[in-house]
Amino acid sequence: MEHKLALIGFGGMAGWHHDLIERIDGLTVAGTWDIREERRALAREKGLRVYRNFEDLLADPAADLALVATPNDLHRPLAIAAMEAGKHVVSEKPVTLCSEDLRAMTEASERTGRLFTVHQNRRWDEDFLTIREILAGGRLGEVHRIESRVHGARGIPGDWRQEPEHGGGMVLDWGVHLLDQALQLFPGVKLTSVYASLTHVTNQLVDDGFSAELAFANGVRMLVEVGTSNFLALPRWYVLGRDGSARIAGWGADAEIVRAVGESERDVVPVRTAAGLTKTMAPRRPDSIRSETVPEVKSDIREFWQNVMAAVEGREAPRVRLDEAARVMRLMEAVFASDRAGQAVAFEA
Ligand code: NAD
Repeated sequence: MEHKLALIGFGGMAGWHHDLIERIDGLTVAGTWDIREERRALAREKGLRVYRNFEDLLADPAADLALVATPNDLHRPLAIAAMEAGKHVVSEKPVTLCSEDLRAMTEASERTGRLFTVHQNRRWDEDFLTIREILAGGRLGEVHRIESRVHGARGIPGDWRQEPEHGGGMVLDWGVHLLDQALQLFPGVKLTSVYASLTHVTNQLVDDGFSAELAFANGVRMLVEVGTSNFLALPRWYVLGRDGSARIAGWGADAEIVRAVGESERDVVPVRTAAGLTKTMAPRRPDSIRSETVPEVKSDIREFWQNVMAAVEGREAPRVRLDEAARVMRLMEAVFASDRAGQAVAFEA
């Protein structure tokens, strides 16, 4: 079955979808509408149909799907209008700004019988899939801590992402990806508490980063951190288990594991520092550990749209479910609440 997608907004991300969709069988772009003439001109240059206005887009019977790729505050009204016009809708992340908005969008999907899902594309990131593989393989023994970070040094991009009324800030921008990934790691396990603080290094109006300590009911503690003033970046992932550690420094291909292979540490050479000796913090002897490389897990992001089409045709369940989106939204609200309170907040206790 052939599907046609109307792009609501033709900014950076809609352009990315347009280029991707050229490589997906069964899906084409029907046209686009953007409030800015310069973006409409670019769409025309790319050979796209540009609608006269939003109503013209909604009225196109050829487009059975719509993507909402505007600033975050507009996802709710535009997605609901598109569903009411009969389109199946994909919203860019974050799905919207708060749980109340998401309830209204979910209700519109139920009322109209249209599919509604969210582009949580970073579930296809190869670093994330590699960490899932490492956890599933059990090679680290019982895991007790996971750290997931993204560190940039350019502040917040200089547009609507700096403004609260448009849903700016890094919790809603990158946080939504990392928190969604965190909740995907342990299906069925409750997240009992959240302790978070936001940063305002370059922006007072919205957060330009945050750190959140998540306590899972299975005993795993997880740190999720986003920074935009980190001129030296820490590893993307760091995982500690009873028998080993894993690290992914960058975005995928560089996963490494170090595992204990014996307890024989009697004659370890101490580290000498200016102020004394330490055996406790001395590195393991090479014969008592083993370094292992981890094959990178390959993914194909085209699966996102292939799944959307299969879900519309009733062949598959949507890969990004609305109850999952609602849980991530509640978690982002808990991050804000913990920052305001200056203390941990209960989540699914
Ligand atoms: P952008 O500023 O480049 O594009 C937004 C576009 O929406 C602009 O061209 C703007 O003119 C247009 N617009 C504003 N109001 C409109 C309206 N009422 N009707 C039609 N068009 C309108 O921003 P972006 O980076 O493309 O981000 C868009 C969305 O995509 C955001 O929700 C963002 O969080 C998301 N995004 C997702 C990812 C990802 O990896 N999933 C990456 C980047 C952005």
